[in-house]
Amino acid sequence: MSILPESDRPNPYSAYGAHGSVLVLNSGSSSLKYQLVNPVGGEAIASGIVERIGESSSPVKHTFAGNTTQREEQVADHAAALELALGLFGELGPDLAHAGVHAVGHRVVHGGELFSDPVLVDDDVLAKIRDLSPLAPLHNPANATGIEVARRLMGDVPHVAVFDTAFFQSLPAHAHTYALDREVARAHGVRRYGFHGTSHQYVSGKAARVLGRRVQDLNTIVLHLGNGASASAIEGGTPVETSMGLTPLEGLVMGTRTGDIDPAVVFHLVRNAGMSVDDVDDLFNKRSGIKGLSGENDFRELHAMIARGDEDAQLALDVYIHRLKKYVGSYAAVLGRVDVIAFTAGVGENDDVVRALVCEGMTGLGIAIDPERNAGRVSEPRIVSPAWAQTLVMVVPTMEELAIARQCIEVVDGLDPTA
Ligand code: ADP
Repeated sequence: MSILPESDRPNPYSAYGAHGSVLVLNSGSSSLKYQLVNPVGGEAIASGIVERIGESSSPVKHTFAGNTTQREEQVADHAAALELALGLFGELGPDLAHAGVHAVGHRVVHGGELFSDPVLVDDDVLAKIRDLSPLAPLHNPANATGIEVARRLMGDVPHVAVFDTAFFQSLPAHAHTYALDREVARAHGVRRYGFHGTSHQYVSGKAARVLGRRVQDLNTIVLHLGNGASASAIEGGTPVETSMGLTPLEGLVMGTRTGDIDPAVVFHLVRNAGMSVDDVDDLFNKRSGIKGLSGENDFRELHAMIARGDEDAQLALDVYIHRLKKYVGSYAAVLGRVDVIAFTAGVGENDDVVRALVCEGMTGLGIAIDPERNAGRVSEPRIVSPAWAQTLVMVVPTMEELAIARQCIEVVDGLDPTA
């Protein structure tokens, strides 16, 4: 098993000392996730989640110094959720007044064609995030509300919006253009945007640093396999392909989403199955993927079902792996040479069976897995390919909150997060 040391270049964040922190907020349609991050050391100082906002009872979880507190509260809206979270910091620690909160970073799903970098939030930026709501109707309104409330409650620190789509704004036109009537496409912003950009950027950069190489010198395929899943092909640090499109529905098979599917399935279901467009939207996004095929979307349960002889679960895994192999092969063709394949996120970091199956039978492409190196869950970056393989297969845990925190510092103070 080889764990490679990071190159010991000076840490650009050390100027902040050990006590500076960034509060990272992820406001979903019915949840608020938060993490207080030390951008120097990279650790989460505290984190929490308020779920089922607006329902009769909301589960709340706050973790600080190894202690997790869970309770049920009544949380009417996002303003109440953030007030509650700030109250939990006061009650359970750490005291935000002493944590030196340097900035608040907001994860925003869709930046459209307007945002290719993180930006300092002002009224104009907030209005633009709202204006992008037709492209992400579930996410952007919630993101905008979260920003609005946080600015009101924490008006004395800068707020930065970090977009899931930003990294992929540099995709070449031939990769982001759908072969659709150009007038319709232009009029309605129909193109591929890509998502999980913060993770793809962080993981490809981290893989290079762990290897002691410059990201500019590497061709990397990142497989972000969480409940949502996406792949990217990154040439010398610049993305040249990614699997998600106008929305996060395109591409890989996911926990509950179809990924790629013939668009004519929509016409078929609307014309012949009595479904509305909203029904199909719900079907494709929430009742499909691994869950649709097997009844479960958690891979731990999927493996348990397979062990019990469940054929639907086996087929779900087979479809999932087959789709991944198609993406790895096509991205190898796009890149011409693959130096690194990096697995990340919940499934990619924890599921050694998935990693082994994706790379199985690919020795002809220079891709292989070493069973011993691959065994088990991975919490630190690790190489899992054999020494003889041309492509380095790695597991690189993603740290999206840290990446967002560092991008905030870049915006607020002009430091380079990729340094
Ligand atoms: P997201 O951020 O998209 O919600 P995560 O990256 O947290 O997702 O990944 C969640 C998924 O990771 C779970 O649904 C589960 O399938 C998978 N997962 C988590 N832990 C394990 C594990 N130990 N073994 C296999 N799969 C796991």
